Amino acid sequence: MRDEIVETGRSLQARGLSPGTSGNLSVRDGDGFLMTPTNSSLGALDPARLSRLDAAGRHVDGDPPTKEVWLHLAMYEERPEARAIVHLHSTYAVAAACLDGVDEDDVLPPLTPYYVMRVGRLPLIPYGRPGDPSLTALVRERARSAHALLLSNHGPIVAAPSLAAAVNAAEEIEETAKLVLLLHGLPRRELTPEQVAELRQ
Ligand code: ZN
Repeated sequence: MRDEIVETGRSLQARGLSPGTSGNLSVRDGDGFLMTPTNSSLGALDPARLSRLDAAGRHVDGDPPTKEVWLHLAMYEERPEARAIVHLHSTYAVAAACLDGVDEDDVLPPLTPYYVMRVGRLPLIPYGRPGDPSLTALVRERARSAHALLLSNHGPIVAAPSLAAAVNAAEEIEETAKLVLLLHGLPRRELTPEQVAELRQ
Protein backbone atom coordinates (compact mmCIF):
# COMPACT_ATOMS: atom_id res chain seq x y z
CA MET A 1 0.00 0.00 0.00
CA ARG A 2 2.89 2.37 0.78
CA ASP A 3 4.36 1.68 -2.65
CA GLU A 4 1.00 2.28 -4.30
CA ILE A 5 0.73 5.69 -2.58
CA VAL A 6 4.26 6.62 -3.71
CA GLU A 7 3.63 5.48 -7.29
CA THR A 8 0.25 7.27 -7.44
CA GLY A 9 1.84 10.49 -6.17
CA ARG A 10 4.63 10.24 -8.74
CA SER A 11 2.11 9.69 -11.54
CA LEU A 12 -0.12 12.61 -10.45
CA GLN A 13 2.82 15.00 -10.30
CA ALA A 14 4.36 13.78 -13.58
CA ARG A 15 1.06 14.57 -15.29
CA GLY A 16 0.89 18.08 -13.82
CA LEU A 17 -2.05 17.33 -11.53
CA SER A 18 -0.20 18.14 -8.31
CA PRO A 19 1.84 21.36 -8.64
CA GLY A 20 4.56 22.09 -6.06
CA THR A 21 3.82 20.50 -2.69
CA SER A 22 0.05 20.63 -3.24
CA GLY A 23 -2.32 17.71 -3.02
CA ASN A 24 -2.49 14.82 -0.60
CA LEU A 25 -3.43 11.15 -0.56
CA SER A 26 -4.62 8.80 2.15
CA VAL A 27 -5.77 5.19 2.51
CA ARG A 28 -7.36 3.17 5.29
CA ASP A 29 -4.71 0.96 6.89
CA GLY A 30 -6.06 -1.58 9.38
CA ASP A 31 -7.90 0.45 12.03
CA GLY A 32 -6.11 3.65 11.05
CA PHE A 33 -4.80 5.53 8.05
CA LEU A 34 -1.71 6.10 5.92
CA MET A 35 -1.38 9.67 4.68
CA THR A 36 1.06 11.84 2.75
CA PRO A 37 3.14 14.10 5.02
CA THR A 38 2.80 17.88 5.32
CA ASN A 39 4.86 19.96 2.85
CA SER A 40 5.73 16.93 0.77
CA SER A 41 5.85 16.82 -3.02
CA LEU A 42 3.65 13.99 -4.30
CA GLY A 43 6.37 13.30 -6.86
CA ALA A 44 9.05 12.51 -4.26
CA LEU A 45 7.37 10.59 -1.43
CA ASP A 46 9.40 8.23 0.75
CA PRO A 47 7.39 5.06 1.51
CA ALA A 48 9.02 4.70 4.95
CA ARG A 49 8.13 8.26 5.99
CA LEU A 50 4.41 8.30 5.15
CA SER A 51 2.31 9.46 8.13
CA ARG A 52 0.51 6.72 10.01
CA LEU A 53 -2.56 7.69 12.04
CA ASP A 54 -4.64 5.66 14.46
CA ALA A 55 -8.40 5.17 14.19
CA ALA A 56 -8.98 8.49 16.01
CA GLY A 57 -6.72 10.35 13.57
CA ARG A 58 -3.79 10.72 16.00
CA HIS A 59 -0.30 10.72 14.49
CA VAL A 60 1.39 7.39 15.31
CA ASP A 61 4.62 7.43 13.28
CA GLY A 62 6.25 8.66 10.10
CA ASP A 63 6.42 12.37 9.26
CA PRO A 64 3.60 14.68 10.50
CA PRO A 65 0.51 14.38 8.25
CA THR A 66 -0.82 16.97 5.82
CA LYS A 67 -2.47 20.02 7.42
CA GLU A 68 -5.60 18.95 5.54
CA VAL A 69 -5.87 15.76 7.60
CA TRP A 70 -9.19 16.94 9.10
CA LEU A 71 -10.77 16.93 5.61
CA HIS A 72 -9.76 13.32 5.05
CA LEU A 73 -10.96 12.20 8.49
CA ALA A 74 -14.32 13.97 8.09
CA MET A 75 -14.93 12.20 4.78
CA TYR A 76 -13.86 8.77 6.06
CA GLU A 77 -16.20 9.11 9.05
CA GLU A 78 -19.18 9.86 6.83
CA ARG A 79 -18.33 7.31 4.12
CA PRO A 80 -17.59 3.89 5.62
CA GLU A 81 -17.15 2.36 2.13
CA ALA A 82 -14.31 4.77 1.32
CA ARG A 83 -10.87 3.14 1.41
CA ALA A 84 -8.89 6.01 -0.11
CA ILE A 85 -9.01 9.78 -0.55
CA VAL A 86 -7.35 12.01 -3.15
CA HIS A 87 -7.17 15.80 -2.80
CA LEU A 88 -5.63 17.88 -5.60
CA HIS A 89 -4.98 21.49 -6.54
CA SER A 90 -5.18 20.54 -10.24
CA THR A 91 -5.43 23.66 -12.42
CA TYR A 92 -8.79 23.35 -14.18
CA ALA A 93 -10.61 22.02 -11.12
CA VAL A 94 -9.22 24.95 -9.11
CA ALA A 95 -10.38 27.31 -11.87
CA ALA A 96 -13.88 25.81 -11.59
CA ALA A 97 -13.64 26.30 -7.81
CA CYS A 98 -13.12 30.04 -8.46
CA LEU A 99 -16.14 30.45 -10.78
CA ASP A 100 -18.88 32.69 -9.44
CA GLY A 101 -22.58 32.00 -9.90
CA VAL A 102 -22.34 28.20 -10.01
CA ASP A 103 -24.88 25.71 -8.66
CA GLU A 104 -23.45 25.10 -5.18
CA ASP A 105 -25.25 21.77 -4.95
CA ASP A 106 -23.54 20.47 -8.12
CA VAL A 107 -20.82 22.65 -9.61
CA LEU A 108 -20.09 20.87 -12.91
CA PRO A 109 -22.67 19.93 -15.55
CA PRO A 110 -23.14 16.33 -16.80
CA LEU A 111 -21.16 16.65 -20.06
CA THR A 112 -19.82 13.12 -20.45
CA PRO A 113 -20.94 9.64 -19.35
CA TYR A 114 -17.71 8.84 -17.48
CA TYR A 115 -18.02 11.99 -15.41
CA VAL A 116 -21.55 10.95 -14.42
CA MET A 117 -20.44 7.39 -13.58
CA ARG A 118 -17.24 8.25 -11.69
CA VAL A 119 -18.22 11.51 -9.98
CA GLY A 120 -21.97 12.02 -10.32
CA ARG A 121 -22.44 15.13 -8.23
CA LEU A 122 -19.97 17.73 -6.98
CA PRO A 123 -21.18 20.02 -4.17
CA LEU A 124 -19.25 23.23 -3.42
CA ILE A 125 -17.85 23.86 0.06
CA PRO A 126 -17.41 27.56 0.97
CA TYR A 127 -13.89 28.95 1.27
CA GLY A 128 -11.86 28.20 4.38
CA ARG A 129 -8.17 28.77 5.15
CA PRO A 130 -6.18 25.52 4.61
CA GLY A 131 -5.81 23.73 7.91
CA ASP A 132 -8.80 25.57 9.41
CA PRO A 133 -11.16 22.83 10.65
CA SER A 134 -14.13 25.19 11.11
CA LEU A 135 -15.73 23.76 7.96
CA THR A 136 -15.67 20.21 9.33
CA ALA A 137 -19.41 20.09 10.08
CA LEU A 138 -20.31 21.26 6.58
CA VAL A 139 -17.85 18.87 4.89
CA ARG A 140 -19.35 16.02 6.91
CA GLU A 141 -22.88 16.99 5.97
CA ARG A 142 -22.12 17.25 2.25
CA ALA A 143 -19.99 14.07 2.29
CA ARG A 144 -23.03 12.06 3.40
CA SER A 145 -24.62 12.49 -0.03
CA ALA A 146 -21.57 12.94 -2.30
CA HIS A 147 -18.21 11.17 -2.50
CA ALA A 148 -16.59 14.14 -4.25
CA LEU A 149 -16.54 17.75 -3.02
CA LEU A 150 -15.09 20.95 -4.47
CA LEU A 151 -13.51 23.35 -1.97
CA SER A 152 -14.05 26.97 -3.03
CA ASN A 153 -10.92 28.67 -4.43
CA HIS A 154 -8.96 25.56 -3.43
CA GLY A 155 -9.62 22.23 -5.19
CA PRO A 156 -11.42 18.88 -5.26
CA ILE A 157 -11.40 16.07 -2.69
CA VAL A 158 -12.62 12.59 -3.62
CA ALA A 159 -13.32 9.49 -1.50
CA ALA A 160 -13.56 6.06 -3.20
CA PRO A 161 -13.32 2.32 -2.52
CA SER A 162 -9.71 2.27 -3.83
CA LEU A 163 -6.87 4.69 -4.49
CA ALA A 164 -7.15 4.02 -8.23
CA ALA A 165 -10.89 4.81 -8.20
CA ALA A 166 -10.29 8.04 -6.26
CA VAL A 167 -7.62 9.10 -8.77
CA ASN A 168 -9.90 8.27 -11.72
CA ALA A 169 -12.72 10.37 -10.25
CA ALA A 170 -10.36 13.28 -9.49
CA GLU A 171 -9.18 13.15 -13.12
CA GLU A 172 -12.76 13.17 -14.39
CA ILE A 173 -13.34 16.33 -12.33
CA GLU A 174 -10.21 17.90 -13.81
CA GLU A 175 -11.18 16.99 -17.40
CA THR A 176 -14.80 18.09 -17.00
CA ALA A 177 -13.70 21.42 -15.49
CA LYS A 178 -11.41 21.84 -18.52
CA LEU A 179 -14.31 21.08 -20.90
CA VAL A 180 -16.57 23.58 -19.14
CA LEU A 181 -13.93 26.29 -19.61
CA LEU A 182 -13.24 25.26 -23.24
CA LEU A 183 -16.96 25.47 -23.97
CA HIS A 184 -17.39 28.83 -22.25
CA GLY A 185 -19.49 31.11 -24.45
CA LEU A 186 -20.39 28.30 -26.88
CA PRO A 187 -23.82 26.67 -27.10
CA ARG A 188 -23.36 23.37 -25.31
CA ARG A 189 -25.35 20.14 -25.12
CA GLU A 190 -25.42 18.45 -21.72
CA LEU A 191 -26.60 14.92 -21.04
CA THR A 192 -30.35 14.94 -20.40
CA PRO A 193 -31.80 13.96 -16.99
CA GLU A 194 -32.96 10.68 -18.62
CA GLN A 195 -29.45 9.92 -19.92
CA VAL A 196 -27.99 10.73 -16.47
CA ALA A 197 -30.55 8.49 -14.76
CA GLU A 198 -29.72 5.62 -17.13
CA LEU A 199 -25.99 5.94 -16.30
CA ARG A 200 -26.68 6.06 -12.56
CA GLN A 201 -28.56 2.76 -12.78
ZN1 ZN B 1 -5.53 21.58 -0.48
